[in-house]
Parts: sequence; C-alpha cells; structure tokens
Amino acid sequence: MSTIFGQIIEGSLPSKKVFENERILAIEDIHPEAPVHILILPKKPIASLQDLKGEDLALVGEIVQVAQKLATELGIEKGYRLLTNNGSGAGQTVFHLHFHLLGGRPLGKLG
Ligand code: 5GP
Repeated sequence: MSTIFGQIIEGSLPSKKVFENERILAIEDIHPEAPVHILILPKKPIASLQDLKGEDLALVGEIVQVAQKLATELGIEKGYRLLTNNGSGAGQTVFHLHFHLLGGRPLGKLG
C-alpha cells in the first residue's frame, strides 16, 4: 500500500506541483505553515531519512539543489528553512521521505 505521496507520484491523488524531473517531485503542502511551504521528495519510496542508503545519497544533494532553485524563484533565498522530520517522535506523519521548504515569514529558533 503506497503512502499519500506515493499516490501523488503515481498520479492517483492530485497535488500542486512546482517542480518535477525523473527523480524528484516538489509540491505545495496542503496545510501550509508559512507563506511558502513546499514539500520536496524523491520519487523512490524511501520511508525516512534514517532509511536512506548510501546508494541514494545523491538524491539528497539533488533535493538541496531543487530547494535552492525554488527559494530563489520564490524570493525567499535570504531566509528559509529546509527540514525533514525523521520518525514519529519528530512528528513525521507520511512515511515517504520528504523535505519541507519553509519561508516567507520570520522563522523562529528551532525548539
Ligand atoms: P510530516 O509531518 O510527515 O513531516 O509532513 C507531512 C506533510 O504532508 C504535512 O505538512 C502535511 O500537511 C502534508 N500533507 C499531508 N497530506 C497531504 C496531501 O494529501 N497533499 C499535500 N500536498 N500535502 C499533504
């Protein structure tokens, strides 16, 4: 059974896509916590950061590049956050690796 993000990647659930290539998809978060709240994910179904294998490390580099590009395009390059919640103890709710790109408002210290 695929996750919500798996279904979005397959096209069986709708999403607002802001970037896509063969390996990476970026979509608007359905419940934004900031004026810019984008989710950047590998299409490969990796459950979490902790499940990432050495052979897939390049995907994280590419996600960082996509975040840089989107941050510049959206005018938040001077202040944004790129984060992933790893595991339920950190608030992960969808078990398909994704990074939150947040910006467009002052971001406080991480608690
Ligand atoms: P997590 O809590 O796992 O770090 O982040 C999951 C994120 O996915 C949340 O910010 C939540 O708002 C978002 N989300 C949950 N369901 C959907 C959906 O169907 N579509 C989109 N675009 N985002 C979703």
